[in-house]
Amino acid sequence: MKQLSEKISEIAPSATLEISDKAKKMQRKGIDVISLSIGEPDFDTPQHIKDACIDALKRGETHYAPSNGIPELLGAISEKITKENGFSCKSDQVIVACGAKDAIYEAMEAVLNPGDETLLFTPAWVSYEPCVQIAGGKVVFHPVNSGTFQLDDSILERVNAKTKMIVINSPSNPSGAVFDKRSMKLVADLCQDNDIYAMADEIYEKLIYGKEHISLAGIGDMAERTITINGFSKAYAMTGWRLGYAVAPVEIIRQMSKVQQHSVSQATTFSMWGAVAALTGDQGCVEMMRQEFDRRRKYVIAELKGMGYETAPADGAFYAFVKVNGDDMEIATRWLEQGHVAATPGTAFYAPGWIRLSYAASIDTLKEAMQRIRSVG
Ligand code: PMP
Repeated sequence: MKQLSEKISEIAPSATLEISDKAKKMQRKGIDVISLSIGEPDFDTPQHIKDACIDALKRGETHYAPSNGIPELLGAISEKITKENGFSCKSDQVIVACGAKDAIYEAMEAVLNPGDETLLFTPAWVSYEPCVQIAGGKVVFHPVNSGTFQLDDSILERVNAKTKMIVINSPSNPSGAVFDKRSMKLVADLCQDNDIYAMADEIYEKLIYGKEHISLAGIGDMAERTITINGFSKAYAMTGWRLGYAVAPVEIIRQMSKVQQHSVSQATTFSMWGAVAALTGDQGCVEMMRQEFDRRRKYVIAELKGMGYETAPADGAFYAFVKVNGDDMEIATRWLEQGHVAATPGTAFYAPGWIRLSYAASIDTLKEAMQRIRSVG
């Protein structure tokens, strides 16, 4: 048989799956495993959003829609961005995709040529590198400061004539860190001085605790070269709806649109009607979930500190990023096999020596998990 795609063969399978597959196997055997390894809210989608989707289905919104998204949703997104994110955005600068992940993939395909370099700050979420690789690009890694989780002048060394894009993710998955004005300004200056595109993944924008969210596109002229990624999965507990979006200059949106038209065609029509309700409806549900995450965050961080662990800032998202003494894969395996708690080793995020725990679980579940981790060490 002829050899399958070299490009795809070279992509490493997700290291997150190793532990979660093991956890699932244990659960199938009837073992009571607490999973703190998943990146999704445990809340149900708010009722008014579900109702809007059900109404859309009843109205017969079951057909193809415009590829970039229904005008009502494009309008609601452009209004949200202009009102909240510090830069003006028209409907033709928006594309709705099948999740933020799909928007990220399309953006990489739209911008990168083979051999183009993309700068990624570590720890980094698992899918950026594969998306760059699928688009034919090359990833250059650079660590954030291991104490503050901010950026410093050392990022200047990573840029050269081949650098095409810089990716930032604030609040961060997995660290929970939120980039401050100085970090953002460093990235903005670097992009503007060297003619580099930026991707700002702001999917955790609404889950932030006492810090300010800064949109990269809102700094100076950065909107001219920034692809802002956002979505509905985290803020509105809509992971299964598969809806995300990108906001970018029209030329980039046109390129992304071609990728979308010839692959998924569009996001699901009735899902998009739910998203219109999410953005235009009462935002109280978002704040309720944020407050509950904040309560859990305080509990988990205090417990971990009580056990003597150092943790990353935990100013955003819903992850505690824990520094462990030793091999993170081994320790995560011990927590799973002996403590029956599934967590994600930092190696999956290019950060060996750390473990990510999601606190998107009830306080009672978290209490039990903390007790188990304490008992196995
Ligand atoms: N970016 C980050 C940083 C994420 O953590 C996730 C989800 N884990 C995504 C993007 C993708 O989200 P979606 O469900 O909208 O595809």
